Amino acid sequence: MTVEVLNRIGDELRPASDGAVVERRNPADHRQVVSVAPESTAEDVRDAVSAAVAAQPAWAATPPSARAAVLERAADILAGRAEEIARELTAEEGKPLADARAEASRTPTNLRLYAGEAVRLTGATFPSDDGGALVYTRLDPLGVVGAITPWNFPLNLAARKIGPALAAGNAVVFKPSPHTPLMGERLAAALAEAGLPPGVLNVVHGFAAGAALVADERVDGVTFTGSTATGAAIHAALGPHRRAQLELGGNNPVVVLADADLDRAAAVVAASSFNLSGQACTGAGRILVAEEVHDELVERVAARARALVLGPGDREGVTTGPLVTEDAVKAMAAVVEEAVADGAEVVVGGRRGEGPDLEHGWFWEPTLLVGARPGMRLVDEEVFGPVVGVERVADLDEALARANDTPYGLTAACCTTSLAAAQRFAAEIRAGMCRINRPTVGTAANAPFGGIKRSGSGAFKEQLGPGTMDFHVTARTVFLGS
Ligand code: NAD
Repeated sequence: MTVEVLNRIGDELRPASDGAVVERRNPADHRQVVSVAPESTAEDVRDAVSAAVAAQPAWAATPPSARAAVLERAADILAGRAEEIARELTAEEGKPLADARAEASRTPTNLRLYAGEAVRLTGATFPSDDGGALVYTRLDPLGVVGAITPWNFPLNLAARKIGPALAAGNAVVFKPSPHTPLMGERLAAALAEAGLPPGVLNVVHGFAAGAALVADERVDGVTFTGSTATGAAIHAALGPHRRAQLELGGNNPVVVLADADLDRAAAVVAASSFNLSGQACTGAGRILVAEEVHDELVERVAARARALVLGPGDREGVTTGPLVTEDAVKAMAAVVEEAVADGAEVVVGGRRGEGPDLEHGWFWEPTLLVGARPGMRLVDEEVFGPVVGVERVADLDEALARANDTPYGLTAACCTTSLAAAQRFAAEIRAGMCRINRPTVGTAANAPFGGIKRSGSGAFKEQLGPGTMDFHVTARTVFLGS
């Protein structure tokens, strides 16, 4: 059944001003249209920002505990609908139902965490040479926040932006991915139902709305998750006077040293590379393996890759769902073809998923290649799919040099039984997150998450963890004399 999604602007649910729409098809069966959403015009975006500007002062003046209560109620509503939403998420985005359930239940948990931030925000006082003056900071809301999200965690990444923004007293204009408008609507509808006043959260859908939103000078800051190229365009458009929080792409390595527990290392590599069909920003496409254990590790990872079950995410036993679009399937084919032409060898997969359940979907087989090396796109770029290349390295020195030889710095893993090697890897890897004997994928809601180098913005890079609220507030210093 197709769901019609509308923009949320002020107290109205509206189609695009010119009636244009975007269709989203089920990636496991593209004969089904899952959702139809507005392709918003510049006028729609302007109206959404106007609604946010008008609603923000009253929301900022709402007691923090009342703001928290709205987020708590929205969390309850989402938790109550988690199963239904998880099924819609699988239909719209494609991830297996177990992963969709995990996302649908993590989203309310995160909203509860941010609800608490509304009452936990703290400024500071400062010793002063000006006798009698009280010097302190006040934390005011940023104002109007633009939240722009990708399709791969359409609920949770949006909640990670909208939750803290609302907790701090901001109004928001939310632009979900055009591939997952229904998930954006489900989140926004829960907040509206929870009692969020009209105009405090506005939603505009479509491909072009993001650029229009960023261009509107009344938007005080943009929190964005998506590709590095889009992030760079947003940063440039915002200029120096408006705030950017950018969570961008990665090219994440897993290093396996000669002393690693190889069974555990194979599990780490398989999870890092093939979970969510490789469509996680924290997924790993580069596996750097010590010469001595290369063949043994490849064999164990290959066994794990062969055991994965490719298919529609709502089918029992499926571990690996479709890719997001037909273009993504074509991109995998091109990366593999180029690598093979350059001397790499396919060990597992390397082709489009075929079979009775796969013919109408965008499926690509989990793919393991050996003989990968710098100069191949497989190694140099973010692949964003279930295609992984294994490279040989002599030792930790070479592994670190190769792992760091990338403009990205999101996450990295090292498999070793040596504490000294683990400590050195953690100290010298240039990535925002580092995992020892753990897959590159996954987050902890209470620990900082953010990339360095071209994987994020330098300032305000933390989402999650104690720094979450920094982006959403402006600290101002007051010298209070009597
Ligand atoms: P994308 O950059 O193509 O799109 C992201 C969002 O930006 C979408 O809503 C899109 O419509 C919008 N957009 C496109 N052009 C815009 C513009 N000029 N101005 C404003 N908005 C614009 O990314 P995607 O394909 O949706 O997502 C995949 C990418 O996201 C990968 O690179 C992945 O690594 C990255 N990602 C990063 C993280 C992280 O936390 N670092 C998490 C998930 C995904």
